[in-house]
Amino acid sequence: MKKIGLKFIFIALALFITSCSTAPTSDVSESEINAEAAKAYAEIKAKSKISQNAQWNAMVQRVAQRIAKASGENFKWEYVLIESPEVNAWCMPGGKIAVYTGIMPVLKTEGALAAVLGHEVAHATLRHGMKGYARAKQNNYWGLIAAGASVIGGQLLCKTDQCRKLSQLGGVAAGFAITFLDRKFSRADESLADHMGQIYMARAGYDPHEAIQLWDRMSASKSGASAPEWMSTHPSDQNRKSQLTSWLPKAEQIYESAPQHYGVGSSIR
Ligand SMILES: [Zn+2]
Repeated sequence: MKKIGLKFIFIALALFITSCSTAPTSDVSESEINAEAAKAYAEIKAKSKISQNAQWNAMVQRVAQRIAKASGENFKWEYVLIESPEVNAWCMPGGKIAVYTGIMPVLKTEGALAAVLGHEVAHATLRHGMKGYARAKQNNYWGLIAAGASVIGGQLLCKTDQCRKLSQLGGVAAGFAITFLDRKFSRADESLADHMGQIYMARAGYDPHEAIQLWDRMSASKSGASAPEWMSTHPSDQNRKSQLTSWLPKAEQIYESAPQHYGVGSSIR
């Protein structure tokens, strides 16, 4: 019985993957995507362990709020600090932010957290990845997910660990992980998010140098062959750092004219 079920799911997924590669993209409204994201986010929060670290929670709150404000985007912002060793953080469409406790010690400073959130929020404000989501939606992938295939589907379809872990939650969260969070953005999109993220953090009152320091800290946190989660979707390279360095004079100007100055903020320990 179980075997037949698995076989069915496997065939359904194979069909999905085939149809996915040929079907045209459709227009899925942003409000529709944001509504799905909000559902997935609520599910992720309900099924995850929320951090009880008062100091870190307060830091995530204030940094996320400042970055959100600096973005000028009228999203229904939400923030959560999830208790998990994963070195990761993300922002869903519509401004649903998650930070995993595992990333905090790697960042070392509040300013580096501002750099990460600036970058992730920029992906959301620049509407990166919408096409892929629209395609998955048009292919009625949600139907497949509702049929309970998401947990296994995640193991088969996910390319990133981030997706695999979230897909274990099942339901809408898994669907969203597979259709939206399982992505490595293009180099061009990553570059835009780096640029915009550095501007957001500067406008929010954090020293934009921290966006450069961040990459050294991430690289240093590699233990053996295993790179931190965030690094697997954001490979560090010299080009990335030199671009951030070349944008620094402009970012510094923005920082200077920011209404508040927090520098690198508090240390994270
Ligand atoms: Zn990115």
